[in-house]
Amino acid sequence: MDKKYGVYICTGCGIGEALDIDGLTGAAKESGMAAKTHEAVCSAAGRKLIQDDIAGGTVNTAVICACSPRVWKEEFNFGENTITVRANLREGVVWCAEKPSEGRTAETISEYSNELAQDYVRMACTQAKKIDVPEPFKLEAINKRILVMGGGLAGLTAAKEASAAGYEVLLVEKADKLGGKALGWRKQLPTKAPWSDLEEPTIQALVAAVENDPKITIRTSMEVARVAGTPGAYEATLKVGGSKSEWDAPAKVGVDEQDKIAKGEMPDPNAGLKNYMTSNPDAEKVGAVVLATGWTPADVSEFEHLGHGKLAKVVTNAEFEKLAKEGKVPANVAFIQSPGGEAHDRDFPYANSVTSMVALKQAKYVREDNPDGKAYILYQHMRTPGNMEMFYKGAQNDDGIFLTKATVTGVEENGGGLVVKAKDTLLQEDLALQVDMVVLGAGMRSTTAASPTVNLSYRQGPAFLDLELFDGYADSNFICFPYETRRTGVYACGGVRKATDFTEVVDDACGAALKAVQCLESADRGVSVHPRSGDGSYPEFFFQRCTQCKRCTEECPFGALDDDEKGTPKPNPTRCRRCGTCMGACPERIIGFKNYTIDMIGSMVKAVEVPDDDEDKLRIVCFVCENDAMPALDMAAMRKISLNNLVRFIPVRCLGSVNMVWIKDALSSGMDGALLLGCKFGDDYQCHFVKGSELADKRMANIGETLGSLGLEPERCGVRQVAISDYDQVSAVIDEFVESIKELGPNPFKGF
Ligand code: SF4
Ligand code: SF4
Repeated sequence: MDKKYGVYICTGCGIGEALDIDGLTGAAKESGMAAKTHEAVCSAAGRKLIQDDIAGGTVNTAVICACSPRVWKEEFNFGENTITVRANLREGVVWCAEKPSEGRTAETISEYSNELAQDYVRMACTQAKKIDVPEPFKLEAINKRILVMGGGLAGLTAAKEASAAGYEVLLVEKADKLGGKALGWRKQLPTKAPWSDLEEPTIQALVAAVENDPKITIRTSMEVARVAGTPGAYEATLKVGGSKSEWDAPAKVGVDEQDKIAKGEMPDPNAGLKNYMTSNPDAEKVGAVVLATGWTPADVSEFEHLGHGKLAKVVTNAEFEKLAKEGKVPANVAFIQSPGGEAHDRDFPYANSVTSMVALKQAKYVREDNPDGKAYILYQHMRTPGNMEMFYKGAQNDDGIFLTKATVTGVEENGGGLVVKAKDTLLQEDLALQVDMVVLGAGMRSTTAASPTVNLSYRQGPAFLDLELFDGYADSNFICFPYETRRTGVYACGGVRKATDFTEVVDDACGAALKAVQCLESADRGVSVHPRSGDGSYPEFFFQRCTQCKRCTEECPFGALDDDEKGTPKPNPTRCRRCGTCMGACPERIIGFKNYTIDMIGSMVKAVEVPDDDEDKLRIVCFVCENDAMPALDMAAMRKISLNNLVRFIPVRCLGSVNMVWIKDALSSGMDGALLLGCKFGDDYQCHFVKGSELADKRMANIGETLGSLGLEPERCGVRQVAISDYDQVSAVIDEFVESIKELGPNPFKGF
């Protein structure tokens, strides 16, 4: 693109009063660009100023120096042939300016603010020079059929919804008939007012609707042996339910076992397998996958004091449902919701509100079948969200249902029945309940916790990445992106993604089906799915310089990169979520996007003017995650919270995309410190790209060591975690880092 630049400086929203506009115009001029000013660039008149320049052919790259790039996105979208770059003067400089105090006069603050604003104008002009228009990647042929794995309530609903949206569906169910666990339900939880009455199961009607749907192809007694390919062009190999297939996922073979296989001391468990990565001509062609393989009851036999597996009358909630359907409900039943014993405040593993509500439902069975029956629900946490509170109230008002918070100490046989011993923690009394049966509120364990389930033929393995870290759940982000797994094109719903009740399963299935549709349509347009929905860029590789180090393939959180025998990456752009983690990982710096490159950000860092003779004017670059830290900074500014004006913020797609060369460049150009500000990691990770902030933390620890060997203090580099909601703390987090740099003093290499 032959670029023609235009810089537009807004003087509205307090910018004109607070900043030296001539200084900003001068900063643009230094970058070789002419600037125009307007009292409100976002207004119709302001945008017309830009549109007229574009229509007149004098501008195709607009540098808008005004508010945060997070606002007025659509208003400043001038079509796919015009590049727009933003300099954040309003939230980034004016609204977060320091208040005058005894230590700082208004004049000094104004001087610092102007230097900050001029740096942002220079950085935006540099970005404009380095950025390019993305050219979407398009598959040669796209298949829009959706594979639904699992024919239970979730799978049936997803299949029906996808079909209703106009998509062909291939529905694969391991059992010999559709319906799943819901076929064994005696009643369903209430779905409508007055929220107190159990409802007749609707599963049979749903099965019939799916069986009569011409857009849905049903394959019962079948399983998916593997899924190969990429969104829009998957190959699904099926096998007879429970059987082995030559396309099965390879079994994991440890180092010791590999040794033994090599010496002929043990047979190779994968000997009969075809090359897992090669194509199967007989496979079904599909474009996206809905994973609805459900759950299995969590194992409760580990809680020995409760007697499951030893005492015949101690059953799980799933086992009790079967008995209830057969009409075998005894008169006196204790429902134990928490294991008690040592872990007395805990619920059973994988339990949540569903297990609470199932206990209430099953207590009602006791009452329905036995007019004098008694149901005792012993819990640590009774969770009845939303309207289900009324269901709970209904149970509380039933004279035959007893609910109490209690720690169960043991279950023993007593005559023909059982005695449950517990401490009532509300009344501080010891209980000994004589009952006919004990029902344990076992949780729902995702099928992905036990096995790869989808059997993806990906270089990074058949399962979802790092499953063991996340209790076996396949999600890429629980909070922001329900249904999205760590494999683009595969969307989870129902019990496979969390313990869900009837209504949640139906909502989930609709959501997952729509995500699959969105993925297919995005792949068709060559753009990304969440979280960078609509992004037409994708990583491009300069393979001539690839050293086959495999860092990109190993660190890609979404398995988007396969590789060949030598280790050269083989990109699959429709699997890619455009996070840039590969770009951050590559030591050769040969990965980049049309609109986001190592050179672009590195040049922006170098565009910052670093005074080399003023100890008060330290310069710190801060790379901020655009998903959490950047909104937190903007929200702080909107609340007029001061942000340190020695820091130059640069938004990045994810901290995982930060290449350490930017840090080296910043420090070698005389900057005094470099900070990464991203989302929380660990058990309650919030990274939109799964592990970006965690990876950045590790990389920064390594670069700290490198700096040490150069005679620079490792503490000049830091990583801090900030959630999107931490807008009231982010200023203090940054100040703490700046103070630590002040203590170190200026970069000793400044001016060299
Ligand atoms: S941009 Fe992210 S998702 Fe795409 S290949 Fe790179 S690391 Fe993987
Ligand atoms: S990280 Fe860079 S050098 Fe290493 S395999 Fe990937 S592209 Fe090649």
